[in-house]
Amino acid sequence: MKAKIKKNKKPAKVVIKKPIKKEKMKKNEEQKTVSDKNKKTWTALRGMHDILPKEEKYWKSMYNVSSKLAEYMQFARIETPILEEASLFIRSIGKTTDVVEKEMYVFDDSDGGKICLRPEATASVVRAYVSDGLWNNPQPVKVWYWGPMFRHDRPQAGRYRQFTQVGFENIGVLDPAADAELIMIAFNFYKDLKLPVEIHINSIGTPEERERYKNELLNYYRTKKSYLCEECRKRMQKNPLRLLDCKEEQCQGVKEEAPQIVDWLSENSKNYFMKVLEYLDELGVPYILRPSLVRGLDYYTHTVFEVYPISGEGAAQSALGGGGRYDLLVEELGGKSTPAAGMALGIDRSVIYMKEFYQQNQLRVEKEPYDIFFAQLGDRAKGRAMKILDDLRESNIKIAFNLYKNSLKTQLDIANELKVPYSLILGQKEVQEGTIIIRDMESGIQEIVDQKKIETALKKKLKKFDDTNK
Ligand code: AMP
Repeated sequence: MKAKIKKNKKPAKVVIKKPIKKEKMKKNEEQKTVSDKNKKTWTALRGMHDILPKEEKYWKSMYNVSSKLAEYMQFARIETPILEEASLFIRSIGKTTDVVEKEMYVFDDSDGGKICLRPEATASVVRAYVSDGLWNNPQPVKVWYWGPMFRHDRPQAGRYRQFTQVGFENIGVLDPAADAELIMIAFNFYKDLKLPVEIHINSIGTPEERERYKNELLNYYRTKKSYLCEECRKRMQKNPLRLLDCKEEQCQGVKEEAPQIVDWLSENSKNYFMKVLEYLDELGVPYILRPSLVRGLDYYTHTVFEVYPISGEGAAQSALGGGGRYDLLVEELGGKSTPAAGMALGIDRSVIYMKEFYQQNQLRVEKEPYDIFFAQLGDRAKGRAMKILDDLRESNIKIAFNLYKNSLKTQLDIANELKVPYSLILGQKEVQEGTIIIRDMESGIQEIVDQKKIETALKKKLKKFDDTNK
């Protein structure tokens, strides 16, 4: 059905407004300030941030690199809900970790029970592996995810309360190649983005080996108690391994002299770790052995690693990502005993590093250039231009346009700025005749073609279609 528009027969009256008297103006202004005062504006919550259009190029490159790597390495996409039962993370991450103790967003659900915004996704993926019967599929199950995580942390540069992680999990195989494969993906993610990183790596063995080591560590720390910071004294009671995470200056000396976990590993665990390192050598992935690297979460076993920028400053100096093996988690969450390993990379922090590194090294995020600018003149041409643009959507020709500018000069100026080789020009005359002008932007030579043949005519001219033209 066509919309009918009633036309006004009489020309509209022109109303000339009387000048507003001074008193009235004053009153208006008063009213304005009163309403301005009542006007509330909102900012994002503390620790949360908007990702603005100018940042898109970084986020998009990271997403594209991740999905390409996932496809090549045969990881399938998984998406789990943002809300989960709070107990899932308490059980998996561990009660005495900072994430569970201080940083979880936990709510009372109106159905009863406690739910939370996920602080990480490994536990969710393992929950899905068990509850969705993925253990029935051919093993290992290799999956990847991309999405927001929430931690009620103290906000600072590179540390937010909502942030995005990309993660890769490999469930169902105990093989050093699986650990090395994950580290290789983490390394290649940054390599493909032209960002230099190094891997810090350690092995924390099996829970039994770790338990023996914990006792040894505690014995050592007891003799140094007077040198320790407040937090480390608490850690001695609650989670001795976290003593090795301490960043306080006063504890560094004690930490350096502390017994090292590798010395408490069994032959088996040592051999497993050596094999992972051999693979990394073969792959040419640079790594640094870090005896104090234990990772914050309870569920890790054997290999643990973190990714660090090589030349970052400030926020870009902290870990960009990390991961490791978690052979006990599937069973802990109700499944059969199943080995597994995974890693997650923080996108917000990686974007900070990318911006900083690209600026320092005069690198640019390459954008695919436009092939064509589409200029239109007059009302009828605008509608027709929209239709032609819509028809060319599947053509793979990258077209720039601005439907809200009416002057040809302004539109061609934009075309020149974008450095497109050709422009399409559609005016009233062309609309009537069913034609369109193709203008060579360098020579200014214009050619008129039938509107039905635009795609073929353009593809003949554009270099990027050279192969298909043959
Ligand atoms: P984690 O799960 O703690 O090992 O974190 C893996 C990566 O996620 C870190 O290396 C960071 O890049 C990122 N990340 C963790 N917590 C935050 C946060 N609060 N804000 C921004 N990024 C974070």
